[in-house]
Formats: sequence, structure tokens, C-alpha cells
Amino acid sequence: MELGSCCSSNLWIRAVRIATLIGACVAHSSEARTAAAQPLTERETLNAALFLAGRDAAAVPIVLASEAPAGGANGIQGWTTRGRDGRGERVFLLTTSPAFQCAMHMKDNFQCRLKLASVIVHEVWHFKHGSNEAEAYGAQLMFLIGHNAALEDIVDVRASRAQAVAAQKKAVDAARRVAK
Ligand SMILES: [Zn+2]
Repeated sequence: MELGSCCSSNLWIRAVRIATLIGACVAHSSEARTAAAQPLTERETLNAALFLAGRDAAAVPIVLASEAPAGGANGIQGWTTRGRDGRGERVFLLTTSPAFQCAMHMKDNFQCRLKLASVIVHEVWHFKHGSNEAEAYGAQLMFLIGHNAALEDIVDVRASRAQAVAAQKKAVDAARRVAK
């Protein structure tokens, strides 16, 4: 640090230095803005959501799919496959779903990333514990509430839970009738 006698040329040099620094700073922040406008890649989107979803999710094989499975429910965002032994095989995430697209294109939007992470939490529950929708949605809701999710997302997931639980009950009842 220089605290000696001051002269006008010294001041001028300082002023130039400051001007240069400010210039660099502006250039940097405008560069950052350009970068923010770029969407993430699909892999980066997954990684950002996985980081939020936690360690349990990171250990599960997750595949990015651009098409929903045949016969998949309307509005499907993810699904889980099981092997013949009944154990979880893979989790799939639909890259064209609104949750994935939002997390990909609005990377600074925490709620978008959180919603995608909650889809992962839901599927990871299926992967580890089976097909019970009430409990998979329960895990998803706990995760959302624990991370200060937007109320509308919580309400939305609650509605999906009610729908999925009713559909699952109907399917079980139908299977029972056939078995009789
Ligand atoms: Zn489910």
C-alpha cells in the first residue's frame, strides 16, 4: 500500500487503475448475464437437481429419456423400472417434462430445480421401496416442505398424490375382482 506524498500524476494513475478495474467488473458481470441466459445441458440440469435431492439419490442409476414410456400417465415426469427379482432397476426422468424444462432453461430459479429434485426423490423412493404411491408422494412432499417449496408446488403434488392413490386403489380393486 502506498501512503507517501501524493502528486497529480500518481492520482491520475490511480484513477486509471480504478477505471480499468470498474471496466473489468462491468465486462465480467455482463459476461455472467450472457452465461445465465444459456440453458444448462440435460446432464448439468440433472446434476443440479441431484445435488439438492441428496446422497440417497446420487447412488441410484438415473437415465434421461426424451420420450414418455408407452402407456405412461398424462403429465408423467419420471418413472422407475424393476427387474424380475422385484428390485429397482433404473429411474428415468423425462427431459421434455415441464419440471425438467424449467430447471434447464431457468437455472437461477431455485423452485424449478427443487421441483425436479422432488421428482427424483419420488422415483428414488419407488426404486428402493416399491410401487406404493401414497408413500412415494409422502417422501416427495416431506422433501418439498423441508426445502421451503412454493405453496403452489406443494398443493400441486398433493393433488397428484390424491389422484395417483385413487388410481392405484382402483387398479388393486380391479385385480382382486379378476382374481376371484
Ligand atoms: Zn409414483
